[in-house]
Amino acid sequence: MDRRVFLETLAVPCFARAAANDAQFTVEARFYEKLAYKKIKCKLCPRECVIDDRERGYCGVRENRGGTYYSLVYSRICAAHVDPIEKKPLFHFLPGSMAFSVATAGCNVNCKMCQNWDISQSRPEQVNANYLPPKDAAALARQYQCPTIAYTYSEPVVFCEYVLDAAQAGRAAGVKSVVISGGYIQEDPLKQLCRHVDAIKVDLKAYSEKFYKEVVNGELKPVLNAIVTIRKQGVWNEIVYLVIPTLNDSDQEFQALARWVKTELGPDVPLHFSRFHPDYLLKNLPPTPLPTLERAKAICDAEGLHYVYLGNVPGHPAESTWCPKCRRAVVERAGFTVKAMHLTRGKCQFCQQAIPGVWG
Ligand code: SF4
Ligand code: SF4
Repeated sequence: MDRRVFLETLAVPCFARAAANDAQFTVEARFYEKLAYKKIKCKLCPRECVIDDRERGYCGVRENRGGTYYSLVYSRICAAHVDPIEKKPLFHFLPGSMAFSVATAGCNVNCKMCQNWDISQSRPEQVNANYLPPKDAAALARQYQCPTIAYTYSEPVVFCEYVLDAAQAGRAAGVKSVVISGGYIQEDPLKQLCRHVDAIKVDLKAYSEKFYKEVVNGELKPVLNAIVTIRKQGVWNEIVYLVIPTLNDSDQEFQALARWVKTELGPDVPLHFSRFHPDYLLKNLPPTPLPTLERAKAICDAEGLHYVYLGNVPGHPAESTWCPKCRRAVVERAGFTVKAMHLTRGKCQFCQQAIPGVWG
């Protein structure tokens, strides 16, 4: 079912159709500085937009009104769906469970390969949305038997006030929260997110500043810093790298990435190499050849990373989790389906090796 169809069919009174009144979606932003002449500086992401009165930042969902900065997307949910957690992908986080997945409009970068450009590159007024306050998100997650709320599809950084409140409402209701993000965020808001959510998956889009500048309209260094911060804060983290033919698929880049992960994060962080499909502004490039993905994995395996996965290649053995000690499959997957689990309290059932993750 299309996620917007799902949105329309949610038959619960709390999920009321958005009224013309935008006030219900507007809250004061949490991360900004007031400047002279009613200007503000946004301190949420590294872009640090300086914004005049009645103007918005680059992401288009935060507005200066008389020297006070506001989020315009609080509880303004434009996409909602129940997805397998494997689709995020998170492979070491409650395997086989479902995540109640929500998004608002907006993003703080503009990736040429974005698959959700219709919402990520839109202003809030340009997409249909429904009112879903934090407590109701937690209630819907429970109603749909999801142990987790996932903030995903667009960029949760730009709706972080909602994420923070929904994650707290979720915890109070026994529901976990996971953030699916590009990781382009400043340290202070990231640390606040880390206090309230249970996992953060970061899309590391390349290991080169050139790619970030030309394809993402962002920067690599702040994303690397964010991943290190997440790790230091003790929040479960997985990394996805979308391999795009000719743009970020060289041996040198895979090798540099593998060394950085091993050195800065250690060998146990799951690293997913995902297959690209032509979309948005990169329709001129072909899908990633399977040998390219396998080459990326081989380089990272040789570097000593323990959990290197391939994504968007249904049926490939690298979709499963293999015990790094006895080399047997401890979570067997096919596509987004978990076929078998051989873990007991986070340990391999065959050799008792601890497998890092959030398992229950
Ligand atoms: S979150 Fe939006 S307004 Fe704030 S600095 Fe980033 S792009 Fe600019
Ligand atoms: S960060 Fe994600 S949502 Fe934003 S433009 Fe890139 S792919 Fe799209």
